[in-house]
Amino acid sequence: MKIIIHRGTHQIGGSAVEISTKTTRIILDMGDELGLEKYYMPCPLVIDGVTEGTSNCDGVLISHYHGDHLGQLKAVLSDIPIYVGTLSKAIALIPSEHKDSQLYLRLLGANTFSGGNVFTIGDIRIRPLVIDHSAADSYMFVVEAEGKSILYTGDFRLHGLRLHCIEKLIKNYVGTIDILITEGTTLSRNQGRTISEAEVLDDITSYVSDGKYVFVMCASTNIDRIMGIWQNLPDDKVLLCDRYQKTILDTVIKSTYYDSRLYKWHDKPLVVDSGAYPQSYMRDGFVSLIRCTDTYINKIKFFNRDDVRIIYSMWTGYIKYNESLKELIDTYPSYICHSSGHVTTSDLITFIDLVNPDLIIPIHTNSPERLERILHHRNIRILSDKEVFEV
Ligand SMILES: [Zn+2]
Ligand SMILES: [Zn+2]
Repeated sequence: MKIIIHRGTHQIGGSAVEISTKTTRIILDMGDELGLEKYYMPCPLVIDGVTEGTSNCDGVLISHYHGDHLGQLKAVLSDIPIYVGTLSKAIALIPSEHKDSQLYLRLLGANTFSGGNVFTIGDIRIRPLVIDHSAADSYMFVVEAEGKSILYTGDFRLHGLRLHCIEKLIKNYVGTIDILITEGTTLSRNQGRTISEAEVLDDITSYVSDGKYVFVMCASTNIDRIMGIWQNLPDDKVLLCDRYQKTILDTVIKSTYYDSRLYKWHDKPLVVDSGAYPQSYMRDGFVSLIRCTDTYINKIKFFNRDDVRIIYSMWTGYIKYNESLKELIDTYPSYICHSSGHVTTSDLITFIDLVNPDLIIPIHTNSPERLERILHHRNIRILSDKEVFEV
C-alpha cells in the first residue's frame, strides 16, 4: 500500500491524501487552501490521473463539507466517482448552488455514505465514522487493504457536544490501527483554556437574555452551535434568520438519518426575517442569526446602541481581516464566545493513546514537528507534500 499526501503535510487546510494498493487508488479530501484576504484565490490541486491526464482514480472521499476539504472537487476528472456523507452532501449543495455551479454539479452526482456502514472501492474497505467537528456529519475513515489498517481523522475535536462518544467509537469500530493520519491544527496555535461547545452554548444563552436586540454572528453551517442556540432560546425571545439559514436548518432536519435531540425542530419560534422587523419584534426584542457582511453590519447600526448586544461566535482570527466588523465589535456591546472545531493538543494526545497506532503521520498542521517533540516515545513520520510513503 502507498500513501501520498498531495497537500497538507505542513499547512492547515487544502488537504488531499492518496491511498493506493496494486489495483485501487483513492483520494481522501480535495480541499481549497484557506485564505483570509478578501480576494484570495486558492491554488488549484494538480494530481495526475485525478485532476489532469487520463483518469486513474477509483474514488474521491470527502470527510466533511468545509471548503478546505472539498473545495477542489470541481477539479476532479468527471468520470471519477465521488463519495460524501448523506447529510454533508445535502448541506454542501446549498451554498454551492449560489456560489459555485461547478462544485454544485460535481456534488449533485456524488455517491453518499453514512456512519458505520462499510463500503468498498476495489480492494479497499472503508468504514466511515461520525465524529464531532464544527461541521455536521463529519467523518473519520478506517481504511483497510492489503492487511493494513489506516485511520484518517479528517477534522475533529473531543470538546464538542458528543465528547463522551469517542472512547466507545474507538473501542467498538476502529480496532487495531497500523497508521494514524491525524489532523494537528492546534499544534501551532497558542491555546489558553479551551472552552467546550456546551460551555459556549451556556454563555450565549445567558448573554442573549441580557439584551433586547441580540445579533449572533456564527457560521451558517456550524449546525451544533445554531441548533444549540435555538434549543436553549429563552421563552420570551424569538429567533430570526434569513431564508438561506432557514434552508440550511430545514435541510439538516430533513436529511439527518439518525436519532438526534439536537438536529430537529425545536419548540421555540424560528422566523424568517424578510428585511423589515414587525412591530412586535421591535417592542419585545429578538435574537437574530447573522453573518459578518457589510449589509448586516450596517443594519445593526440602525438600532439604538444601548439596546443592542452582539455575540461574535466564530474564530477571532477573522476580525482583523474585516475593518467594519472590527469597528462594530469595538464600539457596540459585544461578547466574543467561541469554541474551536479542532482537537486541543492535550486531547490529541489522549486520542492517540486510545488509538495506539504503530505509526502517526500528522497532517492539517503548520507544525508537524511539534507532535514529534511532544510524543518523542511514539513513532512519528513527517512527510513532505507529494512524497511517496510505502507501507
Ligand atoms: Zn480543515
Ligand atoms: Zn473542518
